[in-house]
Amino acid sequence: MLTINGGSSSIKLALFTEADPPVRRLRAKMDRIGRSDTTLAFTDLASGESQSKVVGDLDHRSAATFLLDWIDERIGLATLAAVGHRIVNGGAHYREPQPITAELMAELKRIATYAPEHLPSEIALIEILQARGPDLPQIVCFDTAFHRDMPRVAKILPIPRRYDALGVERYGFHGLSYSFLIEELARVAGEGAASGRVVLAHLGNGASLSAVRGGRSIDTTMGFTPAAGVPMGTRSGNLDPGLVLFCARTEGMTAEQFHRMVNHESGLLGISETTSDVRDLLDREADDIRAAEAIELFCYEIRKSIGAMAAALGGLDTLVFTGGIGENSPVIRERICAGLGFLGIHLDANRNDSNAPLVSEDDAQVAVRVIATDEEMVIAKAVGNILNRKPSREAAT
Ligand code: ADP
Repeated sequence: MLTINGGSSSIKLALFTEADPPVRRLRAKMDRIGRSDTTLAFTDLASGESQSKVVGDLDHRSAATFLLDWIDERIGLATLAAVGHRIVNGGAHYREPQPITAELMAELKRIATYAPEHLPSEIALIEILQARGPDLPQIVCFDTAFHRDMPRVAKILPIPRRYDALGVERYGFHGLSYSFLIEELARVAGEGAASGRVVLAHLGNGASLSAVRGGRSIDTTMGFTPAAGVPMGTRSGNLDPGLVLFCARTEGMTAEQFHRMVNHESGLLGISETTSDVRDLLDREADDIRAAEAIELFCYEIRKSIGAMAAALGGLDTLVFTGGIGENSPVIRERICAGLGFLGIHLDANRNDSNAPLVSEDDAQVAVRVIATDEEMVIAKAVGNILNRKPSREAAT
């Protein structure tokens, strides 16, 4: 089984063999798509081989073709039982993981404007694979599914009602990660913890938080698109809507330019003027006020969002950190949690410094946990489930 996570500037692949749970064999990432230094990096978990090489200036389509040629040469696309895709948004109607159909493709194309950063490239990947292996089952998993049961009040946007009828509402994202975390939380801390009042904080290049009660999302920081919520690597997160006219009037900025600015030139990169990478910013913050301010704002806005999510839940029992930053950065977790003692959040410095699974004090009211997320595993499991309830490809033909 191959899992594919196609973004606007990267495509991540993982190869699994079917088992319960599926076993990962290979991991590959095509990065910096659309730049002169498009890079392919991979780790073969079976042999231990690991490599990273610049493969040239590739646009999204040629990067996808390059990657599929590469995987074809390495393992043979014909040996695959199925491919599973992470799809950013399934719109109002699609939520369960499912095989691609013509109707589903038509709906994804119809709602491509909902997620111009992700959906067009994800659709292109599906079509390139359809052309190469018409019989290869392709299954899609939606990042919005986890949030589809949010209460109406958390979904509705305060703009003229006609947009609601067009499907413009808070969808929320990082759903594959969140469903992994809730399952894992039940495993490490028990069903009681997983069904309590939980705030999940996914902090990577993209960042969002979700308020979860009874295992279900009741609110989340991202909105109609993944550009909303807390500041991220290059996305602004929530902004004053008045900026649209200000930028148009003062700089003649178009809607496309505004979109580009808030998705690719803002957040940590925008404030620091140097990088979106938290590790690099932490290295520079002592000498560069811009790096220090970027980190300070990031932590401050996430702290406020934890408060907002706790208010939506009516209290808090568990806080989970995940993503590249959430899993690996004690100092960011410490700064986010500073001042949240009033909520019952008290970190244990030693546990936090070692990225322990439980980083809060034993007698703290709120258990603060670090869980490494695994979106690919969620996709692989969904693909395995679908393959096992259907006749295999061989049996069907
Ligand atoms: P993506 O959202 O693209 O999957 P990740 O979840 O890998 O990205 O998160 C990338 C972010 O994690 C980067 O900002 C990186 O600097 C940060 N990060 C990774 N390791 C550390 C660390 N040890 N300390 C601080 N930040 C880290």
